[in-house]
Amino acid sequence: MAFKFKNVDFIGFDAMLSEDERLVRDTARRFIDDNLIPIIEECNREGRFPRELVKPMGEMGFFGANLHGYGCAGMSNVEYGLVTQEMERGDSGIRSFVSVQSALVMYPIYTFGSDEQKNTWLPAMAKGEKLGCFGLTEPGFGSNPGGMTTVARKSGDEFILNGEKMWITSGNIADVAVIWAKVEDKDHKVRGFLVETDRPGFRAYEVHGKWSLRASVTSGLSLQDVHIPATNLLPGTGGLKSPLMCLNQARYGISWGAIGAAMSCYDTALQYAKARKQFHNQPIASHQLIQDKLVWMVTEISKAQLLSLQVGRLKDAGTVGHQHISMAKRNNVWMALECARISRDILGANGITEDYPIMRHMMNLESVKTYEGTHDIHALIIGQHITGSGAY
Ligand SMILES: Cc1cc2nc3c(=O)[nH]c(=O)nc-3n(C[C@H](O)[C@H](O)[C@H](O)COP(=O)(O)OP(=O)(O)OC[C@H]3O[C@@H](n4cnc5c(N)ncnc54)[C@H](O)[C@@H]3O)c2cc1C
Repeated sequence: MAFKFKNVDFIGFDAMLSEDERLVRDTARRFIDDNLIPIIEECNREGRFPRELVKPMGEMGFFGANLHGYGCAGMSNVEYGLVTQEMERGDSGIRSFVSVQSALVMYPIYTFGSDEQKNTWLPAMAKGEKLGCFGLTEPGFGSNPGGMTTVARKSGDEFILNGEKMWITSGNIADVAVIWAKVEDKDHKVRGFLVETDRPGFRAYEVHGKWSLRASVTSGLSLQDVHIPATNLLPGTGGLKSPLMCLNQARYGISWGAIGAAMSCYDTALQYAKARKQFHNQPIASHQLIQDKLVWMVTEISKAQLLSLQVGRLKDAGTVGHQHISMAKRNNVWMALECARISRDILGANGITEDYPIMRHMMNLESVKTYEGTHDIHALIIGQHITGSGAY
């Protein structure tokens, strides 16, 4: 049976955090232990998003946590990262939901929106009364969103949107979609639009048959002659840089989240290895090969903690570069997926069951490796930064 999580702090990481940062993390940790852990295996098995947790998460200040004003918690970026770590220690699907609500919907409204848009959406979204989704990816354009074919045509004081979006987290439960589209004028610039999901011509359909992120809603979106007022354009958006700024926010949270999933797997494997006996009535933890695996994991988790903390400190100082965030996302998700695979191995046959969280984390992390820029696309981003040559 699953074990109660114990902290992972090999290198005195906790001592590098401020009292406030530890308090935020411990509060999020308790929330996840009390509210998500007891139901997550059922949610995963049934493919059910635990909607009952939305309001309590809003009350905890988990939505738009690093934004200031509009009822948001105004956390530092390190504090926000520690929250996403705890979310994903519970489940990547729940962390995905929070990342989309916070980094991909509230952040663009906060950064690119008019005062009216901010006042309409942000307080309600912070409370979880309104939910959002982010429509960038299309059936034909994933890693290369610049190829998108969704268009917005200006007509009087309206825009008319047409196109298809795919793999959109929370699409079916959203009240508002941030839709990225090319404006049909001489510039053909990508701009962001707020589309209320009850508008005629807007349709969301759920993607079924996923073996990953089963506790998160994933949707396709179809927009056919969707009329929106011109005031629904996010006025500060202009070019592909705008959605990429949102993705950077989300990728930063993912880099911490992956540490949470890795911690869950490692801690489970460690506790299991101490309890499970094979050969001469000895715990498997006493065998050298098992110890080598545990050591690999705790080393990589410790390195990832340092990387994310430094990236968070740079972000709080306003000096972080997108290449730093790419490195943290790429490394930490890879590391977490390896930890899941190694931990599954340590649990033997028990590792494939839902009695332990490992296989669920492993399946979830396959999506996390792909979305928000695939592992290889982040290699190309970092490669371009250090060589000056784009290799896409
Ligand atoms: C569960 C889930 C939720 C998601 N949620 C959202 C969401 O809320 N909103 C949203 O907009 N999108 C979302 N996505 C989409 C996600 O961002 C895309 O899947 C991702 O960008 C990759 O695009 P793709 O799947 O089309 O893969 P492709 O771009 O087709 O890539 C396929 C493979 O080719 C590789 N590749 C591509 N180009 C190159 C190159 N130039 N050089 C070398 N290798 C290359 C990639 O690394 C990858 O291995 C989600 C995806 C999933 C799985």
